[in-house]
Amino acid sequence: MDPLSKVLRTGADGALYFWCLGCDMPHCVMHGAGGGPRWTWNGDADKPTLSPSVLVQWDHLSPAARERNAAFYQEHGRYMTHIELPYDVHHVCHTFVRDGRIEYLGDCTHDLVNQTIDLPEFPEGW
Ligand SMILES: [Zn+2]
Repeated sequence: MDPLSKVLRTGADGALYFWCLGCDMPHCVMHGAGGGPRWTWNGDADKPTLSPSVLVQWDHLSPAARERNAAFYQEHGRYMTHIELPYDVHHVCHTFVRDGRIEYLGDCTHDLVNQTIDLPEFPEGW
């Protein structure tokens, strides 16, 4: 990731990264020529507009499920660790990046749902 500004970075093959406070991680879209889905970018590194919206989602374990799984493996022993216990949380982050701001849409499952904030700077160490 190479900095284009405090809020936008670039990578190989037209990758653009911005920091998401809702997920506490960078999100990436691809722009310009190349394979796969491509976003448009207004070319402004300080106040980027990306289109269309950015949808990021994954499944993960809640803290309670982690404890349940640890207890399960402790009870049933190491030979059972090949059994994948199901993820119980579906994380959704759906945003528009417009004019240097992130608009968090109503289907976000994190705390910034329905809020609009200035694009955050990348944290120290990133
Ligand atoms: Zn996010």
